[in-house]
Amino acid sequence: MWYKLTKDEVLKELKVDPEHGLSEEEVRERKKIYGENRIPEKKSKSFLKIFLNQFKEFLTVVLLTATLISFLLGETKDAVAILLIVMINAILGSFQEYKAEKTLESLKSYVSPKAKVVRDGKILEVNIEDLVPGDLVLIEEGEKIPADLRLIETNNLQVDESILTGESVPVRKDADFITQEDITLGDQINMGFKGTTVITGKGKGVVVGTGLNTALGDIAKILSEMEEEPTPLQKDLERLGKQLTYVILSLVAILLFIGIIQGREFFDMFLTAVSLAVAAIPEGLPTVITILLALGVQEMAKRKAIVRKLSAVEALGATSVICTDKTGTLTENKMDLVKVVLPYGKLIDKSNYQENKEEIKEILETAFLASSVRITHDGNYIGDALDVAIYKNFKEIYGEIGENLIKIDEIPFDSARKRVSVLYKDLVRSKYRLCIKGAGEEILKRSTYYKDRDTLRLISDEDKKRFIEIQDSLSKEGLRVLAIAKREIDNIIDKEEWEEELIFLGFIAFIDPLREGVKEAIEKCKEAGIRPIIVTGDYLLTAKKIAEDLGIDVNNGTLYTGLDLQKQDLNGLDWNSVVLFSRVLPEQKMNIVKELKERGEIVAMTGDGVNDAPALKMADIGVGMGLRGTDVAREASDLVLLDDSFATIVRAVEEGRRIFDNIRKVTYYLLSCNFSEIWVVSLSVFLGYPLPLTPIELLWINLVTDGFPALALGVEPPERDIMSRKPRKINEGIINRQMWKNIVIDGILMGVIGFVLFIMGVNKNVNTGRTMAFTGIVFSQIFQALRLSLKRRKNFFKEIFSNEYLSLAVFFSILLQILVIFTPWGIRFFNLERLNMEEFLLVLLLSLIPLYMLIGEKIYEKIFKRSINL
Ligand code: ADP
Ligand code: MG
Repeated sequence: MWYKLTKDEVLKELKVDPEHGLSEEEVRERKKIYGENRIPEKKSKSFLKIFLNQFKEFLTVVLLTATLISFLLGETKDAVAILLIVMINAILGSFQEYKAEKTLESLKSYVSPKAKVVRDGKILEVNIEDLVPGDLVLIEEGEKIPADLRLIETNNLQVDESILTGESVPVRKDADFITQEDITLGDQINMGFKGTTVITGKGKGVVVGTGLNTALGDIAKILSEMEEEPTPLQKDLERLGKQLTYVILSLVAILLFIGIIQGREFFDMFLTAVSLAVAAIPEGLPTVITILLALGVQEMAKRKAIVRKLSAVEALGATSVICTDKTGTLTENKMDLVKVVLPYGKLIDKSNYQENKEEIKEILETAFLASSVRITHDGNYIGDALDVAIYKNFKEIYGEIGENLIKIDEIPFDSARKRVSVLYKDLVRSKYRLCIKGAGEEILKRSTYYKDRDTLRLISDEDKKRFIEIQDSLSKEGLRVLAIAKREIDNIIDKEEWEEELIFLGFIAFIDPLREGVKEAIEKCKEAGIRPIIVTGDYLLTAKKIAEDLGIDVNNGTLYTGLDLQKQDLNGLDWNSVVLFSRVLPEQKMNIVKELKERGEIVAMTGDGVNDAPALKMADIGVGMGLRGTDVAREASDLVLLDDSFATIVRAVEEGRRIFDNIRKVTYYLLSCNFSEIWVVSLSVFLGYPLPLTPIELLWINLVTDGFPALALGVEPPERDIMSRKPRKINEGIINRQMWKNIVIDGILMGVIGFVLFIMGVNKNVNTGRTMAFTGIVFSQIFQALRLSLKRRKNFFKEIFSNEYLSLAVFFSILLQILVIFTPWGIRFFNLERLNMEEFLLVLLLSLIPLYMLIGEKIYEKIFKRSINL
């Protein structure tokens, strides 16, 4: 019971020095004993299990049963053939599903959080798996606690432990708390638990439990049983699949009925009907879609966008508004402190710092003291970019700071307060000194005096106006501006009273260069009908200048501040023209998202802080930051940018659109082809002809054309106009009305091709007719795939091979079919008749009809200058 031990007892027990931490060697030893600090994930489905699942489908069971009966009736050859095709189908299906699972699994490990530890007296960042009992861990706002800790230092530390206790109110931690009684987790306030999140403050603790040997480990079993919910698209598809199943089953039942009335042989008719149902019901579609989504996720990962929820892929494709923060996403977040302005109006550029060393010492020292930066052993700085810039500049000018100050306490930065205060004890003068930095308005509001060279003066309203003007002129250049203030007190006072009667020392200004590629990305957005809206905590004029530099029309667009959001009813804002929100509070982000969503927009919203989590969850696509954000924000997001760049969001949107296009193509393809099979059989039955396709042939068509050509259509490269059309309407569904019409027409067309070929051949004998219909259907479906691929391409002669997978699929499918109809083996297996040249050419000529249609469509487009959709 670690919480019952005092800090010293814990340190002694775990043999660790509170300043020095463990040695690397000790860590290695302990890792051998305790293993990795990891909670094992749920076991993934085995290939065998996936394979067996393929036979759970009702129709497959019926088919297999019927096959068994036909085997017993002595039709051994056909039964074996059917069984073989069903097997191949199941194996291919399993491979697809297995691949989809593996791909999704591999994604989980992309963003792996790190922990800050003290080892050998140095601060390091290590993977959390590498923590061992005894490690000294530093935690701060926004982080997940990486292991179970006995806290030894707490500074305003508050932790959200809801995942363990269900209690959503954060727990205030206290390292000095001690008790001998048995208490519950929620009351152990001198402990930090793995997996819980730090809401505010900082702390330091000794690792007392890792991996499964933690409070989280105890409940891990329950957690790992959570299933991922199907995405809207998958649900849509499921519904579609169900409806289709009913429709097809009824059709097939009617066919069966009519066939029997006509006096056809029952068992033949039954087996054909079942095979037709198996072939026509697109049972493979959901798996194909999952694969496409998974492949898309993989592709996005290559482009530095990590998808955390599959549903984000589809939503991305429909994104109509991207709300983006400024710092780090539009800009580099690589600050440099380039200007200092003192209250009496003197402006000092970076190049003149050395000459004015004495004059700017007080303001820079105060800024320095109000920053917190950690230096790793290899000389890297960890901390807020502004703080790091202050640190570096200060060190360059003055070297080290005197040793006569010790830090007592602080109110850390948060984006709602927009300021930081740190309290020091001045050992020489035995007084206390408060150092404060933050947004100009916040600091000036709380300042009573200002420094005029060495004199302290009262701030008048006139002065304040003058100071704000200084801030404005700096901001207009796109600089980030911080105001600096200090205060001396004789005794420690309540935190609530810290930030009063401050002495304003001036402004410091930072340059933050624009990120490469962002301007182009903004341009792309505009063309694609996506509105970028900047939502920032920064000052209006700074943000405005940045927006302008990025090519956003700030003169015709509307700009709002957080204050406007407070004062006005959100309904009354001009949502159609807004381009920028400045000085917003994190809570307001959520309202912005909500309001936009109510207006029918599909909203992507970026966020990095703890307070951004609600907005990220509310957005259709919450976008977290891989480099700079907090664990909390990442956890709440659907998409994480590895490079934090706005351009990456736009690339992900493009990818999302491509994936959706392809899902449409595949669905369109499968449905139109499957309908054609129903048509061919129905026409023959209704008109009293023999059955045009045998069960084996039907299953083979299903195997060949639904397999590789369909998958290949799913990996089509983006269409040329992909980023110059308007976003898709999210409620449109996979297949819209126009598409339904076209699917039905195409289905009839291919069905008629098959039927015509059948009656041409049937004059000679039934098997010739079947061979022609069979080949005609396979060929026309293959050409249909090619047509769908080329339909939206500008120059289809040049781009005919632009999807190499499809080229391969088409080539091999045709080759396979030719082998089937021309080799003795194929002819025997499928019970075919060898076609003569004339018959074969006829088949080819007719089955090329989808491509003639394509040419017709292209000519239509040329003449009427209208583009044809799927
Ligand atoms: P954003 O990231 O959108 O630019 P933030 O919420 O990070 O906005 O910051 C809002 C404001 O808070 C800044 O404009 C600045 O005035 C102040 N601020 C930001 N970082 C710090 C910091 N490290 N110390 C003090 N004040 C800060
Ligand atoms: Mg920020």
